[in-house]
Amino acid sequence: MTDKDLYGGLIRLHILHHAAEEPVFGLGIIEELRRHGYEMSAGTVYPMLHGLEKKDYLTSRHERTGRRERRVYEITEQGRTALADAKEKVKELFGELIEGD
Ligand SMILES: [Zn+2]
Repeated sequence: MTDKDLYGGLIRLHILHHAAEEPVFGLGIIEELRRHGYEMSAGTVYPMLHGLEKKDYLTSRHERTGRRERRVYEITEQGRTALADAKEKVKELFGELIEGD
């Protein structure tokens, strides 16, 4: 198992978290993750976005700004529910990992 496998779920949650605040797109997510110390390639992030869309956690549309075109992802109701459930689990895990109870 690689570190990438270990962090995959965390990164998906991170994507959902930001998508819950505002629509996201691949490059923006890559930059955001870099800010947090994750070096992720488009070849990793784009399939994750597609996967989240396939699970109906995100929905996407094409957006055109001038000559630029990109796929923008928005969170769905299902995504919000999944995120809320995951938050509870993360809170519990955090308690065990960091606070040691
Ligand atoms: Zn973030």
